[in-house]
Amino acid sequence: MSITFHILGTAGRDNALLVQVDSGQAVERLLFDCGEGCLSGLALSDILAIDHLFFSHLHMDHVAGFDSFFRCNFNRHTKPNRNWGPPETADILQHRFQGFLWNLHEVMSATWFISDIYPGQVRTTRFELREAFAVAHDEGVRLCEGSLVEGGGFIVEAVTMEHRTPTLAYVIREKPRRNIDTSRLASLGLRPGPWVKLLKELSGTSDCVVIDGVTHSIDQLRKALLVETRGESLAYLTDFLLDEPALERLSHTLKGCGTIICEGQYRHADLALAMKHFHMTTVLSATLAQRAGARELVLFHLSDRYQAEDWMEMLREARQVFPNTHYPSHWALDAKAEAGASPNGGPGRPSDKSY
Ligand SMILES: [Zn+2]
Ligand SMILES: [Zn+2]
Repeated sequence: MSITFHILGTAGRDNALLVQVDSGQAVERLLFDCGEGCLSGLALSDILAIDHLFFSHLHMDHVAGFDSFFRCNFNRHTKPNRNWGPPETADILQHRFQGFLWNLHEVMSATWFISDIYPGQVRTTRFELREAFAVAHDEGVRLCEGSLVEGGGFIVEAVTMEHRTPTLAYVIREKPRRNIDTSRLASLGLRPGPWVKLLKELSGTSDCVVIDGVTHSIDQLRKALLVETRGESLAYLTDFLLDEPALERLSHTLKGCGTIICEGQYRHADLALAMKHFHMTTVLSATLAQRAGARELVLFHLSDRYQAEDWMEMLREARQVFPNTHYPSHWALDAKAEAGASPNGGPGRPSDKSY
């Protein structure tokens, strides 16, 4: 079992996060946000394999790349098309669906489920390709406390934050890992075999198993041999106000979360500006990681108002609060900053836009 992640897009441009959960039985892929150009580095097979797309919110730097995702998957019927986001996600995505000419759709079929996430509940809307996505079918509301989505090897939780519009903070938790204690297996004189799989699958219906001609109770074997360890977890956090109440609330939710992937929009010297736009500074992101007891903090979604040397200063100030802070390693920011060049190939552009 494993959970791996990759930040898509480059420094100072739109970003997204691709998470891959390998449960041993299946590999599931989750995409968080879809800014402009974020999918350009992925193979078509990778885009076709994405199981869920989660939006933090629908500002254009988080959704501008959705056309590329939709272009690849609009007629996918090999697996469900599931998209998640804050209130109004279904409305906004329906506009995206209908931004194309459809005249051959009646012979094709694919179903899209778009879920608007509110605190404590989720409203799902279904769209059909054969209807040219013209009808928003209400699939109803379900209560949702804690887990939002449960896959084979993971659960996803969502917390509503404030960005002058609701933004969702996501936590991806790998399900507990179940392993057989091989030393206990040897001491019981049992030989490993296909029966081991039955012990790990808690959903199995058998009560007993025959090993070398002897019948054993599965329940007792589980108690004797199964070792359960907590899986990895990571958080995807971007574009929201992190004042003291939000810091307190979120650090409690993120307790035990190993990796925190968080926006690095503003220098702490620009705290007033960050608060005005309901964004974070790198020091606030680091404070959250420190209070949550995380193992590492990965900063992404950097503002292009700064130049590469500013980004390195922002990293240094975050590290003073939370030492294990870094940018995605493939951005190679350190080397480029030392060479005095902007990672985007030109000087940083001053900008007053803040999404
Ligand atoms: Zn935004
Ligand atoms: Zn943004």
